[in-house]
Amino acid sequence: MEITLSKYAGFCEGVQRAYDIVEKIAKDPKVKRPIYVLGSLVHNGDVVDKIEKMGVKKVHVEGPLEDFFEKIKREVGTLVITAHGIGPEIYELAKKHGVDLVDTTCPRVIKVQRLAKAFFDRNTQIVIVGEKNHKEVKGIYEWASKKAIFIETEEDLCGFVVDPGKKIAVLSQTTQDQEFVERAAVQIKKKYPQTEVVDSICLTTHHRQTEIKDLAQQNDIVIIIGSPESANSTRLWEISQRINPKSYFIERAEQLNGDWFVNCKKVAVTAGASTPGWIIEEVIEKLRIMNSEL
Ligand code: SF4
Repeated sequence: MEITLSKYAGFCEGVQRAYDIVEKIAKDPKVKRPIYVLGSLVHNGDVVDKIEKMGVKKVHVEGPLEDFFEKIKREVGTLVITAHGIGPEIYELAKKHGVDLVDTTCPRVIKVQRLAKAFFDRNTQIVIVGEKNHKEVKGIYEWASKKAIFIETEEDLCGFVVDPGKKIAVLSQTTQDQEFVERAAVQIKKKYPQTEVVDSICLTTHHRQTEIKDLAQQNDIVIIIGSPESANSTRLWEISQRINPKSYFIERAEQLNGDWFVNCKKVAVTAGASTPGWIIEEVIEKLRIMNSEL
């Protein structure tokens, strides 16, 4: 059985950058303690555990933001913002309550946040193609002063209505399915020709989604490693599954099932942007062992 590893498997630049920053501040005695991350740094339990061992814990917003900062201002020395980004209110409240922030927001996400703000300031109706409950999308929505419309499904696209006299700007979650965004953009533009479409899918996502289509076509089986909570990993699996039904979504090497590989000559392995290298290596190693036993 031939095993092909994706060129793009594992941490993207944004996640790697966030992880490196956290590793650095955890060793820096000048950074105020205790250090907390707002939510999961990445959607991967192993990485969250590893960070905790460095002394950096996770905290979640509970209740209204103002109350949350009122509560944490005495308990948190430094608050790390993840690569997904946040809305403007958190920056203001951290400043007001004297909580030090370490901001690891991915520069590509910052670009979309700035566009959201600029379009809102120009009285443009913003449409976000993305999952409204995803952390990154919530942040972008807040930069649009919570005035954006979400397109998450085909149904949303059918029921989509805006004031025809208003300018429209389409932005997307950086990890959205490229084909869905393109389809949505064409339909919105057809109905509202005044629409401006901004390609805000990040380059890494674009490369990964293009590659997975080839891998799904050229291999008998595709293994996608990632957490079900990870939007970009789920997207890779959905795209692969549409082309090759023998696409399996796993979190760890133990989930590999020998029955999948009967008569399999070629297997491709890829991993979402939040999957660390050590988990990918474990999967490849297990596949090699299984291969030697076939
Ligand atoms: S997927 Fe793209 S936008 Fe998101 S963190 Fe990674 S590089 Fe940044």
